[in-house]
Amino acid sequence: MSIQQSFITLSDGNVIPQLGLGVWQATQEQAANAVSEAIKSGYRHVDTASVYENEDGVGIGIKQSGIAREEVFVTTKVWNPEQGFDKATAALDASLERLQLSYVDLLLIHWPAPKMDLYVDTWKALIAAKKQGKVRSIGVSNFNQEHLVRLIDETGVKPALNQIELHPFLQQNTLQQVHKKLVIETQAWSPLGQGKALSHPTIIAIAEKHGKSAAQVIIRWHLQQGRIVIPKSVTPSRIQENFDVFDFSLDLNDLEGIALMDECHRFGPDPLLFP
Ligand code: NAD
Repeated sequence: MSIQQSFITLSDGNVIPQLGLGVWQATQEQAANAVSEAIKSGYRHVDTASVYENEDGVGIGIKQSGIAREEVFVTTKVWNPEQGFDKATAALDASLERLQLSYVDLLLIHWPAPKMDLYVDTWKALIAAKKQGKVRSIGVSNFNQEHLVRLIDETGVKPALNQIELHPFLQQNTLQQVHKKLVIETQAWSPLGQGKALSHPTIIAIAEKHGKSAAQVIIRWHLQQGRIVIPKSVTPSRIQENFDVFDFSLDLNDLEGIALMDECHRFGPDPLLFP
């Protein structure tokens, strides 16, 4: 099956499918079914984390789909209490075991957790894991400019991407500019604003204009602006709908309308204060 979709080449040379499936708050069983359904619909990218407690389910879903391991891009993350060189190394081994995989495509530090001040040591563990072949690419999540610069200054290794909260209500233009300057890709989490952006009149009007759904319009907005995006659903019809976004384009008026929706409003915690 040839699947229409788009890819981004990371600064380390590895290629990531631009649109993936998020599985936060999915049970093991829901994750297994959603991943298997997504792969059948054309997705080749899944985003999980040790704290989601569904890595076993993700591994089962990949196996159930029958896809070859190398055809699917799998991301997991090191949780806050797993930070530090030794703990992060052990956490990755445990994730691989739960996923039933010999490597993950991308490993992220889930939060900088600045009060713990362990993210540089944790980053060194990710660098070592990449050298050992347990991880193809390494990156971070919820980092701001000062955390990114410190990692690069102290290790000489830059994250392939930064996965941050980003949706029409929180457009993160300043941090995206920082990413551009540092050549770090932007990955959007809660890309639909946890579903809350779907009922906004601007989105509904654009959706009606293009004969697409509100979710498709927002996913298209992320893709067209060059971001990697991981909308979550465990409902087969929505999983399919969210992937059916490669046959239309938003125009300048649409993009200007969505730009006006930015309220700098977070649904998740402030990375400087968490945990
Ligand atoms: P999201 O913005 O993807 O919204 C998901 C919700 O939108 C679903 O629960 C569903 O209710 C609704 N939805 C999805 N598709 C729909 C459709 N077609 N029609 C109608 N409603 C639809 O929110 P999210 O799950 O918070 O974020 C996506 C993924 O990002 C997560 O699953 C996870 O993988 C990742 N994430 C990462 C972090 C981090 O700290 N790195 C934090 C939160 C989420």
